[in-house]
Amino acid sequence: MSWTETYHCDVCGKAQGDATGDWWLAWMGTTAGEPGSEGEPMLKMTGWNQTLSHAAEVRHLCGARCAQTLMDRWMSVSGS
Ligand SMILES: [Zn+2]
Repeated sequence: MSWTETYHCDVCGKAQGDATGDWWLAWMGTTAGEPGSEGEPMLKMTGWNQTLSHAAEVRHLCGARCAQTLMDRWMSVSGS
């Protein structure tokens, strides 16, 4: 099992290294929405979790600054 896999921040490209304390995970999805509608864009974020970090579609973030950047980008794309 390759638990030593190195992740890079999906915003700034920084390598994770050994320090996972300040890292975050984020997912972009949609709410369930009303029947017949597509739902609203939704951003989910959680502290680093080694198991969840392997999930497909998850974004890896090196800290609060990059989490904020990701959210700003997401809001500019998803906002109405
Ligand atoms: Zn970063």
